[in-house]
Amino acid sequence: MTLWKRANSVIPGGVNSPVRSFAQMGIEPLFIQNAQGARVEDRQGNTYIDYVNSWGALIFGHAFPPIVDAVQRQTVKGTSYGLATELEVEFAENLVKAVPSLEMVRLVNSGTEATMSALRLARGYTGRQKIVKFSGCYHGHSNDLLVAAGSGAITFGVPDSAGVTQGAAGDTIILPFNELGPVEIVLQQMGSEIAAIIVEPIAGNMGLIPPVDGFLNGIRSLTQKSGALLIFDEVITGFRVARGGAQALYNVIPDLTCLGKIIGGGFPIGAYGGRREIMERLSPLGPVYQAGTLSGNPVAVSAGLEVLRCLEGRVYSALLEHGELLRSGLQQAARANGIPVRVTGVGSLTGIFFSKETIRNAEDLKYHDAHLYARFFKMALAQGLLFPPSPFEAVFISTAHTREILNETMERLEKVFALI
Ligand SMILES: *Cc1c(COP(=O)(O)O)cnc(C)c1O
Repeated sequence: MTLWKRANSVIPGGVNSPVRSFAQMGIEPLFIQNAQGARVEDRQGNTYIDYVNSWGALIFGHAFPPIVDAVQRQTVKGTSYGLATELEVEFAENLVKAVPSLEMVRLVNSGTEATMSALRLARGYTGRQKIVKFSGCYHGHSNDLLVAAGSGAITFGVPDSAGVTQGAAGDTIILPFNELGPVEIVLQQMGSEIAAIIVEPIAGNMGLIPPVDGFLNGIRSLTQKSGALLIFDEVITGFRVARGGAQALYNVIPDLTCLGKIIGGGFPIGAYGGRREIMERLSPLGPVYQAGTLSGNPVAVSAGLEVLRCLEGRVYSALLEHGELLRSGLQQAARANGIPVRVTGVGSLTGIFFSKETIRNAEDLKYHDAHLYARFFKMALAQGLLFPPSPFEAVFISTAHTREILNETMERLEKVFALI
């Protein structure tokens, strides 16, 4: 029996997270057995230059020696205590120092937990029920956030998933990303009912869509007026677009911030934090409950501390330079073959849209040729380039994506676009 058959007989769809199945690409998925730096190796021993990078969790690439060392040093001292450690305090101090909106922070085990808990806290703090999210923004898979339905100006939440009740989804209002008008209308009509607006400050789960000028500033001042909390979901952008995240890059400071991915160095972690008066509403100080057996896990935190230690200013200028190289390579290869493509990006984050139109939000995704993306993906894979197995995911580079690796990528991309 093939591994893929075995996987399918004991794991739903053969995978522990849907996008890994490559279902949208129409091929069987890779099973990875090893990874170093910018490359992953599948079970057959084929290697690929990796542009998935564990969906952005790895800013230094695979098996980064300082992280591996830190983890090895910690595991022999115990892998979980379920009790407080100095490591957690040091980690929290570092997060608070780096991210402008953080005065206090709580550690959890995933980005999903961070956003779910931040919403509960926002509701507990404001005493309000409704939340606003933007279509196409992904905030993990908790009930209230698994709604992204509908185009058009204002749509009330319809669950995206079976098993999510109308009750949970009905308190979620969906608006188009990058449009201030609808936010203004909703806050005028029912501002006193809205606990929070949650947003990815740079959308990274519908391809990569940067905010248009004035959007983040606009929702900041509108929420301040209405008393709703502004939550930045920086699970992707935190420590990636700048040490202080997108809030530092754009100088827009939210009330609460959610982190994940990068801060765990490849281990399961999440964090949420913000102003002291809000965070002090959490149990054991306040009435908003949230807990976790493995929260602040010493192995994950050791990895995270090492990430923060290694992330100095020079890292970001290199990532930006290499991001620009990748984007111009993609653009040139596409143009040389007459293929319409819109390449978006911020630093180490890149988006590829097979479109003649600019993509500003989920409503514009209809211009993006998902079939052409699947062809691109398969051709690239055959050339040893692993791009995200979905037309709606961001492309990630790490510090392991050196100039040499990018040049190698560029050569292969020319072949890929010539064959599409
Ligand atoms: C990945 C992601 C999440 C969810 O994090 P998990 O660790 O997968 O639960 C939340 N928000 C954003 C913006 C993400 O990209």
